[in-house]
Amino acid sequence: MAGAYFHIPFCKRACAYCDFHFSTSTKGRDALLDAMEKEMLLRSKEIGDAPVGTLYFGGGTPSLLEPARIASFIQLARDLFRVQRDAEVTLEANPDDIASERLEQWKSMGITRLSLGTQSFREDRLRWMGRAHDAEQALKSIGLIAKAGFASWTIDLIYGLPGMTLAEWDEQLTIALDHGMPHLSAYCLTVEPRTALAHQVNKAVVTMPDDDAQSAQFDRLMERMEAAGLDHYEISNFGLPGHHSRHNTSYWEGVPYLGIGPAAHSFDGSKRRWNVANNARYVKGVLEGAPHWEEETLTPEQRTNERLLTGLRTSQGVDLARLELDVPGLQRKAVERWMATGHLEHRDGRLVLTSAGRHFADRIASDLFFTDDDR
Ligand code: SF4
Repeated sequence: MAGAYFHIPFCKRACAYCDFHFSTSTKGRDALLDAMEKEMLLRSKEIGDAPVGTLYFGGGTPSLLEPARIASFIQLARDLFRVQRDAEVTLEANPDDIASERLEQWKSMGITRLSLGTQSFREDRLRWMGRAHDAEQALKSIGLIAKAGFASWTIDLIYGLPGMTLAEWDEQLTIALDHGMPHLSAYCLTVEPRTALAHQVNKAVVTMPDDDAQSAQFDRLMERMEAAGLDHYEISNFGLPGHHSRHNTSYWEGVPYLGIGPAAHSFDGSKRRWNVANNARYVKGVLEGAPHWEEETLTPEQRTNERLLTGLRTSQGVDLARLELDVPGLQRKAVERWMATGHLEHRDGRLVLTSAGRHFADRIASDLFFTDDDR
């Protein structure tokens, strides 16, 4: 089993908090998309005969593309790879690109799942974030998607915003749940280096909320989603049964995937590769056959650490039998410490975070990491 990811690096505007690779210029867009199709042709053998269960168009803003262009990527993937008949095909879309006709086009070309970059339903928040859509578009788009008949759909919301109260966060969740949302990705705002937000925080124009406020909003999120019957299957992801993201679940389980486009990552089970995060250099590299990527073969320590980092974030936890190195044997003290404080538990041969532990997932994982000194 494998998956394929397509990175479409174009956005209408730069959101203040975003550190993904994208460009707000449309210059050279067709040449870049042509290069991506060429990269698919050049690398199709890497997937071989493995059945491909998921295709994912992310970015950037893939919903900016003409539907015919997305259809052409899907068709090429079906020509080159053994894409399963019931494959999950996800498209990330922004509210300002949603219209009834467009939804029908996406559905008819084989998109099965839409991921809507809502982030907030409030006008002041959307403006502050620098989003291209307004509150009216956020509300209208979720209404249209809910009725459009996709096999599944999801929205993104951001909490932990400066000055956000529990009442505001509740209101956001209520709006989403009232539309019958089957899946939610909820992210706590983080300040990434070299973003407009980082600049504002450094200049003291913006004050980020403290850990307690963000933690209370995460607790409220878990309570509300549990009450609505959505499984908390990964730290930031909640879904009704049958609506969990198959693409992201495969990624967390270490399933190989092919990443096409600038800044896209690939993993073949032992080697990780990442394409250059520069549109012009990517196109030149693909067209001239020059290296436009870097790669590394993971050591057993790195593979184990990756399994810990991604696995501990999921409700299934980490299957100890699948780790290449013996965590309880080598990191017993760290495991015991987090178990004693009620953050971590053993469940049927797996290491799983408790509800309290979910607040510290990355910290706990890094505490269990192997270093060269552990060998
Ligand atoms: S639309 Fe998405 S990818 Fe583009 S700048 Fe905003 S957050 Fe980043």
